[in-house]
Amino acid sequence: MARRAASLQPTIFTAMTDLANRHRAINLGQGFPDFAAGEAIKRSAVRAIKQDCNQYAPSNGQPQLREAIAAKMSRQYGLQFDPGSQIAVTVGATEALFAALFSLLDPGDEVVLFEPCYDSYRPAISMAGGVSRPLTLRPPDWHVDRDELERLISPRTRLLLLNSPQNPIGKVFNREELRAIAELCVRHDVIAVTDEVYEHILFEGEHIPLATLPGMADRTLTISSLAKTFSVTGWKVGWAAGPADLVEALLRVKQFITFCGAAPLQTAAAEALAVGEDFYQRLKEDYRQRRDFLCELLADVGLPPLTPQGTYFVCVDIGALGRGNDIAFCRDLTERVGVAAIPVSPFCSNPDDGRDLVRFAFCKSRPVLEEAAKRLRAGA
Ligand code: PMP
Ligand code: GLN
Repeated sequence: MARRAASLQPTIFTAMTDLANRHRAINLGQGFPDFAAGEAIKRSAVRAIKQDCNQYAPSNGQPQLREAIAAKMSRQYGLQFDPGSQIAVTVGATEALFAALFSLLDPGDEVVLFEPCYDSYRPAISMAGGVSRPLTLRPPDWHVDRDELERLISPRTRLLLLNSPQNPIGKVFNREELRAIAELCVRHDVIAVTDEVYEHILFEGEHIPLATLPGMADRTLTISSLAKTFSVTGWKVGWAAGPADLVEALLRVKQFITFCGAAPLQTAAAEALAVGEDFYQRLKEDYRQRRDFLCELLADVGLPPLTPQGTYFVCVDIGALGRGNDIAFCRDLTERVGVAAIPVSPFCSNPDDGRDLVRFAFCKSRPVLEEAAKRLRAGA
């Protein structure tokens, strides 16, 4: 194994899902919906395959999907993108992030980001030759201190990576925080890369893309995907939208990673993105009920939830419970109680910052959440 690969550990999602399967535990660890995707989107994909949309798509994505993404961004956020030059379709948000980092970072360039953060960010930054500069957010409100953030910015800072709503902590960045971030990006000439995959799963306020803040349209690459919004995490259809020079850079790298993503799924994605606003309202309401069910349950069984403003995850502060660190706690909960959760230390550069936190996913069907409730009431 080369040193690059040897430095990477198997992801915590794989490790916890394996442990959950071995112990027949209810898996509230890895975040994927266990319920059916919508009939319409599935029919569209089957139709596209049957109609022989089975060869390579253009490297930047099917035109009808790029047009549907541009229309959605305009309708929902007032952001205008030229589908020809300012949108790239990718293999999930994951590839968009990877290609963005590989195309925008030179060796030694620094990336400011907010931790605890999604586990792919730091390995992708280091594989691209970059250096992570994390700002650690703290519960219960995960507030961003503007001055602390500015102190992380140096002449080597090239990018700021923002995930709102943020996995694993459920934080939705508010307008004041976004304004401070935008102002710092403009002042220090930093490009923003935003991961907005949970843009439609939020419970308070509204989703504000960083690109809509003053001065940011020209310096932001906005990334999202179909995965969470349409409950199709296995499809890996994502996109990046931004100024033509950033999109062109991303595509130069992307063409040699995958060239293009699955063509029939792009056709189905284009049709899916034409849904009306009521679809998004129902999604929010549905997830609000799941969130409330799990948060009430956790509070009831003595696992104090940090109620999330967005995403389909809730973190619990185990600091005062006297049951070991996050990893020991999750192992015990899986093996003894039969419910799997995810320790938060792997989401932090300094594992100590996550030792008191564990993450539960509520993107699960009602019977599964109820079985988890039964087990937690019996043994947590
Ligand atoms: N970003 C975040 C914050 C996520 O939680 C996920 C979840 N899988 C992804 C990116 C990956 O998205 P995709 O499946 O579209 O690659
Ligand atoms: N995004 C999902 C989560 O945070 C899992 C993605 C993965 O398994 N890599 O749980």
